[in-house]
Amino acid sequence: MNQLYKLLEEHYEEMVEIRRHLHENPELSFEEVETPKYIAAYHEKLGHEVRTEVGGRGVVATLKGGKPGKTVALRADFDALPIHEEANVPFKSKVDGVMHACGHDGHTATLLVLAKVLNMMKDDLEGSVVFIHQHAEEYAPGGAIAMVEDGCLDGVDVIFGTHLWATEPVGKIGYRSGPVMAAADRFEIKIQGKGGHGAMPHLTKDAVVIGAQLVSNLQQIVSRRVDPLESAVLSIGSFEAKNAFNVISDTAKLIGTVRTFNEDIRDLVEKEMERVIKGTCLTSDASYEYAFHRGYPAVVNHEKETEFVVNLAKDVPGVEEVYESAPVMGGEDFAYYLQHVKGTFFFTGAGDPSWEVTYPHHHPKFMIDERSLLVAANTLGAATLQYLSQEVSEAKATI
Ligand code: MN
Repeated sequence: MNQLYKLLEEHYEEMVEIRRHLHENPELSFEEVETPKYIAAYHEKLGHEVRTEVGGRGVVATLKGGKPGKTVALRADFDALPIHEEANVPFKSKVDGVMHACGHDGHTATLLVLAKVLNMMKDDLEGSVVFIHQHAEEYAPGGAIAMVEDGCLDGVDVIFGTHLWATEPVGKIGYRSGPVMAAADRFEIKIQGKGGHGAMPHLTKDAVVIGAQLVSNLQQIVSRRVDPLESAVLSIGSFEAKNAFNVISDTAKLIGTVRTFNEDIRDLVEKEMERVIKGTCLTSDASYEYAFHRGYPAVVNHEKETEFVVNLAKDVPGVEEVYESAPVMGGEDFAYYLQHVKGTFFFTGAGDPSWEVTYPHHHPKFMIDERSLLVAANTLGAATLQYLSQEVSEAKATI
């Protein structure tokens, strides 16, 4: 393990360089062209078996160790966001309106350099490592589901992934067994009333009044239908009913998101919403259209694999604290991998404690402390090596 840490430390500068290169050249979800090319070329140079256009724009590279054994998959996503960068850094995004504001540039740099280092150690490697470079994490349906369908997990025994987490300082590793990130769904409601003169409301069915009631009635689902020991969020992000000051709107459109951790609660919220919409519109004799678009399911970590990472993370250089993370209401399509193989997704602290302000993920001034790349690489590398050697010795013991 010490050799792994030593080699990674020696290649830290390269990690930073790659991360900055990607940061300067971000590409939006489902529009990635140069990033997958760059990733594929890096692995090809290392002599890895490379598959491109996996599930669309994904890249999968395989490193075969010198000895037989299990297969570990490691995943990094590589898409950016439609945000214009406001951070004042020398490697600022060169693309107007597009920015790596979630740290996926760091994920990719971490995984590429880890691939290089594991390749240097391949003669002693017991088994194989599959590097899953995923496109389009930020935009549902996402790249993960398509990559899984295209076979990226074939022959894989376990998967590990991490997210750089700027709201926790560098040196912290956050874990959680079971549901860790929420299912993220989107809904659209269109109320069809009847427009008219602002002075003659009795001749209309005012879509604004109905919409306002709906906003308030929908809040009763989480407060009065969902078990208080479960969690759910229902937020309306947009309420549109534009008109002149003296005109009553005939339509109103509401768009929002629902976040849940439990599939039964997810079903319940979707169903209860329809009932509330139907009832509210019925009261005012209006009609409606309702669409509930399911995004990613909840990320549910496997217990044994989570414990495995917790136990080894304590001894990883750069890790000062391993903490149990609270569930996070954000979504992640890492969920799909965990529906197919065992594994765990953990958080790697990426905030610099000396910053006066820490900007959250998806903020135009989002930043990461690059020392977190080394911590992430050390932890993922240690998990890989330990899993491969442990599983092999367990198998030997049963012969
Ligand atoms: Mn992300």
